[in-house]
Amino acid sequence: QQTEKAQKVEGSFEISLPGAEMGKVCTRFPPEPSGFLHIGHAKAAFLNEYFARKYGGKLIVRFDDTNPSKEKDEFVTNIMQDLETLEIKPDEVTYTSDYFPALMEMAEKLIKEGKAYVDDTPREVMQKERMDGIESKRRNQNVEENLALWKEMVAGTKRGLSCCLRGKLDMQALNKTLRDPVYYRCNPEEHHRVGSKYKVYPTYDFACPYVDSTEGVTHALRSSEYHDRNEQYYRILADMGVRPVHTWDFSRLNFVYTLLSKRKLQWFVSQGLVEGWDDPRFPTVQGMRRRGLTVEALRRFILSQGASKNLNLMEWDKLWTINKQIIDPVCPRHTAVLKDGKVPLTLRDGPETPFIRIIPRHKKFAGAGKKATVFANTILIDKADAEAIHEGEEIDREGDKVTGLSGVLHLEGSVKTTKLKLTWLADHPELVDLNLVELDYLIRKEKMEEEDELLNVLNPVTKIEVAAVGDSNMRNLAKGEIIQLERKGYFICDAPYVRSTSPIVLISIPDGRQRPR
Ligand code: ATP
Ligand code: MG
Ligand code: MG
Repeated sequence: QQTEKAQKVEGSFEISLPGAEMGKVCTRFPPEPSGFLHIGHAKAAFLNEYFARKYGGKLIVRFDDTNPSKEKDEFVTNIMQDLETLEIKPDEVTYTSDYFPALMEMAEKLIKEGKAYVDDTPREVMQKERMDGIESKRRNQNVEENLALWKEMVAGTKRGLSCCLRGKLDMQALNKTLRDPVYYRCNPEEHHRVGSKYKVYPTYDFACPYVDSTEGVTHALRSSEYHDRNEQYYRILADMGVRPVHTWDFSRLNFVYTLLSKRKLQWFVSQGLVEGWDDPRFPTVQGMRRRGLTVEALRRFILSQGASKNLNLMEWDKLWTINKQIIDPVCPRHTAVLKDGKVPLTLRDGPETPFIRIIPRHKKFAGAGKKATVFANTILIDKADAEAIHEGEEIDREGDKVTGLSGVLHLEGSVKTTKLKLTWLADHPELVDLNLVELDYLIRKEKMEEEDELLNVLNPVTKIEVAAVGDSNMRNLAKGEIIQLERKGYFICDAPYVRSTSPIVLISIPDGRQRPR
């Protein structure tokens, strides 16, 4: 605790791994290819990369593909792309499935040594027995019986399919993860890489220690929910008789109003509730990028949490505030006026014919380039701005509604000294149509609990689209370009200009102040 605090003050992320030697550290990031990477995975990936580089060591990205029912090539491809986006460069990319033959041999060796047995206790009963410390009636059957049943499992026979392989560890251990965990289970489905060659697949508990040890991993970083399993991990390595590996825990990342489970995200995709895994409402790397999050902000945010092991529920605000600090100094400024209720303001002394001035797209950052601003004697302003005008101007009204204004043009006015600020656009045919998209959390529950039914917590409205017109320069926005709309906030271009009949789609980027609810 003390040292953790001291280290935090010193630098945002100066932590060490136990027993780490310069040049000899090897870490691994082991995503299961059952979805795209989300912000929790990004944390794990950044940490593994951080330590590999800090010690001049090696980073392995290992696809943990041991469950054919959930995994696909499409996810492998997208995870590789996500890692590239995060600027994480693995020294090696491997697959747990590469080790299937070796893992089968290891399983057989453990059976022969009396360290594993085949059990056909039904799943629920087994769960209960593990809780209560009751030994399975199969626990002490002899090696021959175990080998015979193992053969049935490997062949995927009817008898085999009713069995699983369990480690013979310690049914009385206080740490329940040691109560004979499952090592292998049957699955007749086809595997995305190895096809239908196998009918049995290793569990994470069994495969992970073996592959870590075999690949030369020195430090296995695991999120804190695995903490209780560390003892089991060491025990299984010892039973296998392979090189020991250090483990190091970090806290699992959780966010308010957010699901970070690939299974649940997959449900949203399958139900058509989102556009796909890259939906900007998703906490995936691709989704957050589409929403306007920079990789730099993500990295800073994650590294700023340091090595804290607190399991806390994070607010999104902090991350978006960091992001704003990164985008604000460089992103170009543009202007938009909402279509609904926009009010024309006629300038009595405005220019007879419109004229153009070329001005910077960002007052303090020349790198943002320039834009053309049109001045004319009729300008458009937002309804809200028009309604804030009370005196000194001529106001046309229809009931309470302001329908027109007239005023005087002060080109030399300053935003700083002017009390009443207006966002305006010269009314002329070159204006472009915009679709401003405001997004909200997908769920209404701040912190999801195990028993919460997804269907009961869905947020009914998660997307609000508002039509606007914008300055003609926005025709040149590229997909993914981030801008600020004067007095409206930050936006990212999701669909650039193609033709005048379809609007440019701009997604609002949270800035850490306005809560999207
Ligand atoms: P999910 O429930 O989303 O499928 P998982 O833990 O099963 O998550 P994996 O693909 O197996 O997903 O995880 C790869 C790595 O990412 C693991 O090391 C895991 O600990 C880590 N990880 C996953 N989710 C989080 C999270 N929310 N916070 C921190 N690390 C995480
Ligand atoms: Mg997993
Ligand atoms: Mg999971």
